[in-house]
Amino acid sequence: MSNWIKNGEKSRQNTSFIFIMKDTLEIIDLHAGTKEGKEILRGVSLKIKKGEIHAIMGPNGGGKSTLAQVLMGHPDYVVTKGKIVVNGVDITAMTPDQRAKQGLFLGFQYPVEITGVNFGNFLRMAVNEIHDPKVKKLSPIAFRNQVEPIAKTLGFSEDIVKRFLNQGFSGGEKKKAEILQLSMLKPDFAILDEPDSGLDVDALRYIGSAINSLDYPFGLLLITHYQRILHYIKPQFVHIVVKGKIVKSGDSLS
Ligand code: ADP
Ligand code: MG
Repeated sequence: MSNWIKNGEKSRQNTSFIFIMKDTLEIIDLHAGTKEGKEILRGVSLKIKKGEIHAIMGPNGGGKSTLAQVLMGHPDYVVTKGKIVVNGVDITAMTPDQRAKQGLFLGFQYPVEITGVNFGNFLRMAVNEIHDPKVKKLSPIAFRNQVEPIAKTLGFSEDIVKRFLNQGFSGGEKKKAEILQLSMLKPDFAILDEPDSGLDVDALRYIGSAINSLDYPFGLLLITHYQRILHYIKPQFVHIVVKGKIVKSGDSLS
């Protein structure tokens, strides 16, 4: 009998363990570098729950963008140790599109211009691709109805989605376009790599209000070099990355 209770307790513990993992992005002792063998990340561990905002700060060259790229599975980097777990699923060996399906999103520090790809079509296909195949696909009209209010919150005119992706967008428009994608894709966990770099105060405010108006719990990893975006987006946790490691974590910058 005592044995039975013991086993019962054990399995309950296991269940709650799995339950906790379910709403979490876990980075466990992550070591990664280039394919040529240059070590960049030297043991990063971090746990982000849905609903939490974590900021990552630190000097240029510390490995912040590499962390973002490795989380999303950029093929230029190799994980040499550790793992990345999303909602209890080990994604360390997955391709970027598989990671997106597991609920990860990356907003790039330097979004690329893609001529010939219509932003709206691209985004609608991405939304349809990422969601459960059993869910009805978004029609062009349903898509437009969803995209328009978000575009407005971001200070875009609605014809932004008729243009080629990022083609001829200003620096601020490119960053806002990443946030538009985030708002439509509704990932469980979003990594934003310097969404504030090169932005004027208006664009910063637009980005802040678009992120704050997202109406579901998601985890945000906000990489930034500057403190000013933290006036608009308030992290509960701040981590400082230097030379490929988190050297300090706290609940504020002081
Ligand atoms: P941060 O975003 O914190 O400024 P990065 O992650 O961009 O830092 O870069 C960290 C270090 O890794 C830098 O020294 C950078 O030159 C190097 N690095 C990043 N990506 C590559 C790469 N693909 N090949 C070689 N070195 C790289
Ligand atoms: Mg960077």
